[in-house]
Amino acid sequence: MQRCPRAFVLRYGIAAYAASHPTGQLLKDSFAIQTPWILMQMSIRDTIRDYVEDYQMGMKWSRNLVQLKFNQAFRYRIEDRNSIIVQLKEWKEPDSIFRRVKPEKHLEEIGAERCAKLIGNESFKHILDTMDLKSIPATRSKLVDGIKVYNSSDFCAKKGADSFLIRINLFGYSSDDEINQNAALFSLGTENQTIMQYSWKNGKWFIHKTNVSTKENKSIRRLILLDSQEMERILKLVGSKNNLEQVPFADSSRTCMHCSIRFLCPAKNRLEEAKGEQMALMC
Ligand code: SF4
Repeated sequence: MQRCPRAFVLRYGIAAYAASHPTGQLLKDSFAIQTPWILMQMSIRDTIRDYVEDYQMGMKWSRNLVQLKFNQAFRYRIEDRNSIIVQLKEWKEPDSIFRRVKPEKHLEEIGAERCAKLIGNESFKHILDTMDLKSIPATRSKLVDGIKVYNSSDFCAKKGADSFLIRINLFGYSSDDEINQNAALFSLGTENQTIMQYSWKNGKWFIHKTNVSTKENKSIRRLILLDSQEMERILKLVGSKNNLEQVPFADSSRTCMHCSIRFLCPAKNRLEEAKGEQMALMC
């Protein structure tokens, strides 16, 4: 769940179910606005998917083409972001936190460099040369123990009876436990128990191939069940009139700094004060 129960409720409760209401639409749009840094990372995935498709059709990219393709993917994402911001102009508050931007040169260079390093990675090249890769849409969900889970990997690699899933971790990893937990998560709802992860960290791509055990599979399913029960509990705190009085704020003001909808939240500049007011109302 997100680090703030209130942001979670606004994003997956009110924004999802009240999209036809102006505030619901505003929330939905605001959550869709990402920073250029995040868009740069997302454009890496777009470019790699494009590259894999071309490679399998026999088209090889030069380093210059990698840069061009990345710039194009990044520009589309920035244009999308800017067009959402333009639609928000009738609301005064978001103006103060969302600014239209242009693709920054240094982000274009960083993104293309990361793509080129993955494309040039010996293990990645070997998979491309010896197996069939099928792109998996990020929006595909699976039903796991009756819970809808969005856990798509990026590609399924197949050769005869041999097959595994490939995931590109754009934001790196903090520990081996995280890698194992990711592998268990990506394998859920699929026949593949082997997950290959390429994770960007300290200027290079790290590779982890994990065979998910039955114990890890059970453990991640238990975690998802507990998480989903907690989500249900928090959503129930919102009354039929979308009353957020009982929904807790974030634990730390650091979370609020990066929150897309802080302009709508009583905690926007003063988290502790907002928490105090909430406590007083509930007494
Ligand atoms: S501003 Fe802070 S408390 Fe309010 S929704 Fe965002 S993260 Fe949560």
